[in-house]
Amino acid sequence: MPLPPDLSKPVFQLFPQAANSIINGECVPCGSTQIRDCDFRDDISKKEYSISGMCQSCQDQVFNMMERMEDDDYHPW
Ligand SMILES: [Zn+2]
Repeated sequence: MPLPPDLSKPVFQLFPQAANSIINGECVPCGSTQIRDCDFRDDISKKEYSISGMCQSCQDQVFNMMERMEDDDYHPW
């Protein structure tokens, strides 16, 4: 059972339905269902799910993207 949603985070004011998704073990961005504790790489990823409702693969995508944007050599245009 994943951690319950952290309702103090602003995302749950913006997207109240995200809390329900997390309680039901669903991924908010990709709609993946039946998310389990063991799907997450570590406690940080597990915690991130309770904050953002993103499964491990969605977290990987977002963090890869952010890393690339922080890279000075990366110019998407
Ligand atoms: Zn996902």
